[in-house]
Amino acid sequence: MKNLKKLLAICLMAVLTLSFAACGKKDEGSKTLTFGTNAEFPPFEYVASKGTIGEFDGIDMVIAKQIAEDQGKTAAINNMEFDSLLLALQNGQVDAVIAGMTIDPERAEAVDFSVPYYTATQVMIVKEDSAIAKASDMADKKIVVIQGYTGESCVKDLGYPYEAFKKGSEAILELNNGKCDVVVIDSATASKYVKDNPGLKIVEDADAFGSEEYGIAVKKGNTELLNKINESINKMKADGKISEISAQYMDVQTEE
Ligand code: GLN
Repeated sequence: MKNLKKLLAICLMAVLTLSFAACGKKDEGSKTLTFGTNAEFPPFEYVASKGTIGEFDGIDMVIAKQIAEDQGKTAAINNMEFDSLLLALQNGQVDAVIAGMTIDPERAEAVDFSVPYYTATQVMIVKEDSAIAKASDMADKKIVVIQGYTGESCVKDLGYPYEAFKKGSEAILELNNGKCDVVVIDSATASKYVKDNPGLKIVEDADAFGSEEYGIAVKKGNTELLNKINESINKMKADGKISEISAQYMDVQTEE
């Protein structure tokens, strides 16, 4: 009996200690702004040996760091699959999502988007000697897209069969190895891949692919955070910081 009481007391102590520790963590958490991303999208986010936020680097990482600093907080990154990002936001796993994410009506039903901070379009990456000159030339070709990216819905809308890969780098490898004819992906990321992979070129088709705007997502109704994010973005747009870092990161050699 005595032993049982002792055991109960020890258990109670353990529970109390753990809950205090958890409270402490929560407190610490409020000084951290956690961003969800998918670090497979150079020059916006990728893993580097020495990054801007931990091992994560890219245009979005510089923007995220500034947004956190503007609020007196430290930015943290939760790296996950692109398809899981909006769910992680809804579950409260992350405070915001910064992932070169295109603002589109379907996503805007699930989350709230900031003001746009970057304009892009879908483009085709092909081998330098490819005959593909416009989107309709892809009709009988082997097309690769990245799963869940806007590029996938664009190709789907065009009605062409395609294969979806999880990572841009895998898609580029497939193209380099001659296993597919074309990769459809966002323009800045395409430029980066073409720059880093000799023998590839970009083909644009403004009639087939419209322009897209990237925004940062927050949980639906989190206007307090959204307003702060918008303030930071507007400041970085006005003082030219976003253009400056965009140009700078196009020139950084991405480590594979
Ligand atoms: N802009 C594209 C989209 O939102 C791709 C984004 C990304 O891969 N990070 O789907």
